[in-house]
Amino acid sequence: MRLDGAGLIKRLPPVRGRLEAERPLADLTWFRVGGPAQVLFSPADEADLADFLAQVPRDVAVTVIGVGSNLLVRDGGVPGVVIRLGRGFGALGVEEGFRIRAGAAVPDVRVARFALANVIGGLTFLRGIPGTIGGALRMNGGAYGVETKDVLVEAVAIDRRGGRHVVPATDMGYSYRHCGAPEDWIFVAALLQGDAGDEAVIEAEMNRITEAREATQPVRTRTGGSTFKNPEGQKAWQLIHAAGLRGFALGGARVSDKHCNFLINEGSATAAELEELGETVRRRVKETSGVELEWEIRRIGQPATEGQR
Ligand SMILES: Cc1cc2nc3c(=O)[nH]c(=O)nc-3n(C[C@H](O)[C@H](O)[C@H](O)COP(=O)(O)OP(=O)(O)OC[C@H]3O[C@@H](n4cnc5c(N)ncnc54)[C@H](O)[C@@H]3O)c2cc1C
Repeated sequence: MRLDGAGLIKRLPPVRGRLEAERPLADLTWFRVGGPAQVLFSPADEADLADFLAQVPRDVAVTVIGVGSNLLVRDGGVPGVVIRLGRGFGALGVEEGFRIRAGAAVPDVRVARFALANVIGGLTFLRGIPGTIGGALRMNGGAYGVETKDVLVEAVAIDRRGGRHVVPATDMGYSYRHCGAPEDWIFVAALLQGDAGDEAVIEAEMNRITEAREATQPVRTRTGGSTFKNPEGQKAWQLIHAAGLRGFALGGARVSDKHCNFLINEGSATAAELEELGETVRRRVKETSGVELEWEIRRIGQPATEGQR
């Protein structure tokens, strides 16, 4: 189905931010694949977002994205409104007791660097996650034994009707790469708890993380990071390796040679090829080990129709 962006914009409330019809999303994701958003909304600030959500017709689908580092956008695009938070959600500040308040659009790596600049420890793990604070809140992003839930004091969210919620970490329903907060909530900020750090120690840790990432992950490629969640007590990459799928390719999509829980767009892949490759991996791993892998990467939108291919 072709997406009529201009037609949808006529049904949307006035905003102070930007509404773009049929805005391609590929360049807003790490995989660099997929179709457009029927409408892309970049709210000016929190009030603009809340007003929009309060007034947008109930039958219009609303999807929020961060910087697309955990996202596969299907080739037929995303019906409804896709919301991408920008500058108006980029605040970063220090609060009493080694705490950092960060807007949801702030990249995790910036928070890690800001913590270093303010000699606040405990947040270096964010150095290795290439998403935003909004994405970290939704995915319970984590690395090196620390997860977002471990450092979160409270999150601020706007619901589908424009209501504002300030939620303590304990009420977020967190588990491994899962957040129990309602799926339609859009996070706009987080208060994070650090600790009294030592500048040299924090800096050394940051450098170690940078080096480890370069050595073990295809960080300079078109990828979505870990494709599947690690099953309880197991590593997804080991199961994929044992199934003989390291380097396995399908069209322009390939299982990374460097880290086989990563899928790579070699340049010409479609979203359909990447998704089919992922499903092939799931099927083969199930056949060889009996384990059913669960997607960690979020897949959004609709497949291309005949006319769009
Ligand atoms: C090279 C590489 C390495 C990676 N390493 C790690 C790692 O070590 N640990 C790890 O946990 N992840 C890792 N990831 C995955 C990814 O970086 C994280 O999941 C990140 O938190 C996603 O953030 P994002 O802004 O890119 O969100 P997106 O990918 O754009 O979106 C992911 C999900 O978050 C939701 N979302 C985004 N913003 C908001 C918001 N403001 N409010 C509500 N929901 C929102 C989206 O709807 C979607 O469901 C890696 C990815 C890559 C490409």
